[in-house]
Amino acid sequence: METLVTDSPAHAATFVADGRLVAFPTETVYGVGAPAFNPHLIRRIFDVKGRPSDNPLIVHIGRKADFGLIGSIPNDYTKALVDAFFPGPLTVVVPRTGAVPDVVTAGLDTVAIRMPDHPVGRAFLLACDTPMAAPSANLSGRPSPTTWSAVLQDLGGRIPCILNGGRSKVGLESTVVDCTGDSPVILRSGAYSLRELQKVVPTCTQVSQDELTSLKSPGVHHKHYAPNATVVVVNGEWPPAFERKSGYIGLEQLPPDKECDLVHVCADVEEYGRLLFSFFRECEDRGLPTIYCLKPSLDGLGMAIADRLTRAAAATADISSAAR
Ligand code: AMP
Ligand code: MG
Repeated sequence: METLVTDSPAHAATFVADGRLVAFPTETVYGVGAPAFNPHLIRRIFDVKGRPSDNPLIVHIGRKADFGLIGSIPNDYTKALVDAFFPGPLTVVVPRTGAVPDVVTAGLDTVAIRMPDHPVGRAFLLACDTPMAAPSANLSGRPSPTTWSAVLQDLGGRIPCILNGGRSKVGLESTVVDCTGDSPVILRSGAYSLRELQKVVPTCTQVSQDELTSLKSPGVHHKHYAPNATVVVVNGEWPPAFERKSGYIGLEQLPPDKECDLVHVCADVEEYGRLLFSFFRECEDRGLPTIYCLKPSLDGLGMAIADRLTRAAAATADISSAAR
């Protein structure tokens, strides 16, 4: 199958109208989507990504008025979150309507909903004129794509169309919040920090990594964000020696005794978030088997970056032990 890359939301939407998958840009990462009410096409998303079927999808809407087609707003704090953060990188988990097929929610009675804040992505959703179920447009387990070329690298030949909207400006996935209980609970850290959400709903909390294991958000258990290289998280102490062929990304300069083939010192935590996944892919393209990543402090976006680093390191630990 040939994969067309287009800048036109209207052109991309014609593929959806023909019952075919399209990858599209959002401010977090690129997604690969199908109409939320088309279970047959949604199953294709799981096939092309190799995504486990117990990992539910986020439904993307182009306008707030479409929320009620998919889910209900169960309480006042959810309304406050939606008013404050839609459109934006926040996903709310709410009770679903009967119209949502099981394949979207992995059989759960809740659904995850988000309204992206990206001009091209929004124009596409509006042109499709339906809510779109969409996971990130990478092969399952790999780093999320933040450019059309990263989508092409993973899904080229598997999907017919990629809509180009430039580099995703956040670069990390949305914050996922469970809105079904007495107060909101962050299930996945992301672009909005706990503190930002607490400014709107002070009772908002975040589950610990341990609690997550027994919890409602099935997808968080699967292998995630792993490039074809070993990710080493540097936390507090620099490793005594660096591997010869390696990359480094972080908020601090490398100490003078350390050398890497590819070094990216980020100006701020936003840049770190924006470039992390594409840095992984760049190291991969250059054949660098080890990637050192300096753990940022956990304020603001730092929490989401640290979460992605920990998961990427855990998922790539096998590669390093196999290489030894
Ligand atoms: P992805 O689209 O790959 O970035 O992943 C979507 C995230 O949303 C995963 O962490 C899912 O587990 C989570 N998610 C989607 N639907 C639900 C739901 N109904 N309840 C809890 N978590 C969900
Ligand atoms: Mg994903």
